[in-house]
Amino acid sequence: MNDFDVVILGGGSGGYATALRSAQLGLSVALIEQDKLGGTCLHRGCIPTKALLHAGEIAENTKHAAEFGVNAQFISMDMLAVNAYKDGVISKLHKGLQGLVKSRNITYVEGHGKLVSKNQVEVNGTVYTGKNVVLATGSYPRTLPGLEIDGKQIVTSEEAMKFEYVPKSVIVLGGGVIGCEFASVWSSFGADVTIIEGLPRLVALEDESSSKQLERAFRKRGIKFETGIKFQSATKGPEGVTVTLENSATHTAEVLLVAVGRGPVTANIGYEEQGLTMDRGYLIVDNKCRTNVPGIWAVGDIIPTLQLAHVGFAEGILVAEEIAGLNPRPINYDGVPRVTYSDPEVASVGLSTATAKERGYDVVETTYDLAGNGKAHILKTSDSIKLVAAKNGPVLGIHMVGARVGELLAEAQLIYNWEAEANDVAPLIHAHPTLSEAMGEAHMALAGKPLHAHG
Ligand SMILES: Cc1cc2nc3c(=O)[nH]c(=O)nc-3n(C[C@H](O)[C@H](O)[C@H](O)COP(=O)(O)OP(=O)(O)OC[C@H]3O[C@@H](n4cnc5c(N)ncnc54)[C@H](O)[C@@H]3O)c2cc1C
Repeated sequence: MNDFDVVILGGGSGGYATALRSAQLGLSVALIEQDKLGGTCLHRGCIPTKALLHAGEIAENTKHAAEFGVNAQFISMDMLAVNAYKDGVISKLHKGLQGLVKSRNITYVEGHGKLVSKNQVEVNGTVYTGKNVVLATGSYPRTLPGLEIDGKQIVTSEEAMKFEYVPKSVIVLGGGVIGCEFASVWSSFGADVTIIEGLPRLVALEDESSSKQLERAFRKRGIKFETGIKFQSATKGPEGVTVTLENSATHTAEVLLVAVGRGPVTANIGYEEQGLTMDRGYLIVDNKCRTNVPGIWAVGDIIPTLQLAHVGFAEGILVAEEIAGLNPRPINYDGVPRVTYSDPEVASVGLSTATAKERGYDVVETTYDLAGNGKAHILKTSDSIKLVAAKNGPVLGIHMVGARVGELLAEAQLIYNWEAEANDVAPLIHAHPTLSEAMGEAHMALAGKPLHAHG
């Protein structure tokens, strides 16, 4: 009775995508989740942070309304109302997802699961046997040695997204995606924000030019940051939390947000006992997400690929299709679109200039300044689209900074993933006036026939 084609441990993006696609392909599925269906992305990640960022955008629009001839006054944030709006979005999506899982005849099991043999997961004394077991137990927010999360003054993203007030001042430890998004939100809400980043630049996984533009935009917004400097210690006192850096400099703020990355949830749930190969806690898989143990697969944040919800979805679909014998193509991780949803947004797909050069390409690049784009002026946004291409060859990377550029990734990823050349894209007509025209203009410039560009 408890025998299935696929038993999945973890109902986040990776796990539920595996379940939905497996069921669609006619496989019998058990999906085990100890908390809420939807996992980090829906309840503690993508969705709540984007709702907060949208509230931040409205706050910024209100502050700047007079620039557009609108009489409005920003008074303050009502965080209880912001949270009600955010929770309403989560709740609707949660219900929708529950309905979807039910409609596909997936056996949904609530409870903490443990891998007890190579094809069995135990939940509250009941054993679920699968011809295949898919591990999708996700990730948790990391901290640093000596830095204790108290959930009030020293917090991670988990607590930060539930705050019922706007702190006067915040130190954000970590200038990656999560750190920059929270810095952006809190600054929009009225907090004084300082980011501390150990690497030489903010959003260090992005092309260097994107980091520079984001840093310039943050500076303009009054968001302070120190890069290339390591955290040493944090102490709590009546003034708030004081952070001491390697060079003995100190910063004090009401709240310290620790955003130093996320670690895989792989300990104490039977993975080691079944002989699964791991590296620093991550499960090691091949290009079809197979672990070293036949019949056991792993997807999402527990494997060392990009920690993104859409990567989890893609890995889940890949595994389901491989189990069903469809022999899907492995994922090209360079072709995964990436967005930091701060104000301004940072969006990219493909290779940075540095990576393209490391891989031996003869690189050409062009940068199209959004100052040449009508819609950018209407929105009062600036920054640019940068193309990295192989000389006389395809576009290798697209890197964008500016308001709403995340939406331009739909086209950017087609260009990259279909290995388009500048001359393939340049003749495509883009609607005027849209930001997407800048994508067309950048390719026209790369093809040697710039229209609305100098030089
Ligand atoms: C603040 C923040 C913002 C983010 N924003 C974005 C974004 O904008 N876009 C984006 O693409 N990604 C974003 N992410 C990343 C995204 O949330 C993750 O990449 C994604 O959720 C990973 O999916 P997963 O299925 O691997 O893990 P999870 O979503 O973490 O799901 C794992 C599930 O497994 C369950 N589980 C664990 N152990 C057990 C057990 N033993 N028994 C039963 N159940 C168990 C957990 O309860 C959890 O529900 C963000 C993350 C954070 C933290």
